[in-house]
Amino acid sequence: MSLVVQKYGGSSVADAERIKRVAERIVDTKKAGNDVAVVVSAMGDTTDELIDLAEQIVPVPEGREFDMLLTAGERISMALLAMAINSLGFKAESFTGSQAGVLTTSVHGKARIVDVTPGRIENSIAQGNIAIVAGFQGFSKETMNITTLGRGGSDTTAVAIAAALKADVCEIYTDVDGVYSADPRIVPNAKRLDTVTFEEMLELAASGAKILHLRSVEYARRYGLNLHVRSSYSTKNGTLVTGSMEDLTVEQAIISGVAHDRSEVKVTVVDVPDKPGQAALIFQSLADAEINIDMIVQNVSTGGTGRTDVSFTLPATDGQTALATLRRIQDVIGFSDLLYDDHVGKLSLVGAGMRSHPGVSARFFTALSNAGINMEMISTSEIRISVVCRDTDLDDAVRAVHDAFELGVTDPDDGAVVYGGTGR
Ligand code: ADP
Ligand code: ASP
Ligand code: MG
Repeated sequence: MSLVVQKYGGSSVADAERIKRVAERIVDTKKAGNDVAVVVSAMGDTTDELIDLAEQIVPVPEGREFDMLLTAGERISMALLAMAINSLGFKAESFTGSQAGVLTTSVHGKARIVDVTPGRIENSIAQGNIAIVAGFQGFSKETMNITTLGRGGSDTTAVAIAAALKADVCEIYTDVDGVYSADPRIVPNAKRLDTVTFEEMLELAASGAKILHLRSVEYARRYGLNLHVRSSYSTKNGTLVTGSMEDLTVEQAIISGVAHDRSEVKVTVVDVPDKPGQAALIFQSLADAEINIDMIVQNVSTGGTGRTDVSFTLPATDGQTALATLRRIQDVIGFSDLLYDDHVGKLSLVGAGMRSHPGVSARFFTALSNAGINMEMISTSEIRISVVCRDTDLDDAVRAVHDAFELGVTDPDDGAVVYGGTGR
């Protein structure tokens, strides 16, 4: 008998009909002789709607209450899913993250899982039940408060539960047939990847490919757990996230995909004195506010001014906190102004093969140039090139790069299907 963990995302449980379909799929897995634990996200766009609602009350809601509100979304879907399974004659029990033993750090809105004590889940499964766990949420022992794991965090709940239960299989069910060479909502001829290595999936997820939450991939790699990404709307094969770059054969594609990200903003600190220690002051203060910085650009001062501008990108959700934090040290540093740009987009090309293939950057920048895209920031890793551009240019940029590297399928019948979701 195998222990299977399945995670169903928001579009897979968007309405009562979908919840019933998913319940049937779960029951089929149980009938096939497996033990089953399920992690479920909030229905459809519920989380976005709750965020909109809170922001109508106050522009920057207080973390504790915001998390209390958002975790309600998963509580609704877990109970409805358990009811749907029960009505099929199988026994299911639903658990909040806290009841399921998902223990996290105390920071609201982006807590990290530190431990999982899945005793209640194990007992429930041992009694023959299907255990349903609310994704995206946990409990901080330090503050005794409910926390959330960041947008898309149900994937990470699933991996953490699978690791804690020593599951044989961890399946991530979503609204497309797997991980593609680009977001199929932007690139209809994107190609499904049969397998993708952990390193590549980490870079894709870190670059905004929201098919998997970044920390779920980190967690799975640490625990040696393969992830099977597939659609809850079809029975197609999906994508296996497995193995490392060392295992790749020479025939492996040089590039695995293009990712894009619209969730970041750019902050520029204007007229920073060009002397040692200023960047340390800026980024230490942001780190103390628990803000993760993505790209950073700084030039040496020109024209003998002794001053320079420092620009960086960060999640939009941290934008206002970053501005407030920097304003507090404005007099210490002596910069003249802060600029805030929320119309940026980031595009990244990812592939294990680019380490050993010259010319990838040249082809990448030529593609963007031919498409008339102006780049504002550039950063690279061993297996990734990223650029920041105007958000209005982003879709064109993704398609131009995807075409230039011939990543798509040629037969339109092989194109990607987007079964559900609003892409919000
Ligand atoms: P879920 O609600 O199931 O967690 P998400 O909306 O979080 O689903 O993630 C699935 C979506 O990720 C897809 O509908 C697709 O638009 C988007 N996506 C972005 N990049 C990729 C990619 N490389 N491959 C597949 N889907 C991608
Ligand atoms: N419901 C949460 C979100 O929309 C978590 C998730 O779906 O993974 O971000
Ligand atoms: Mg998701």
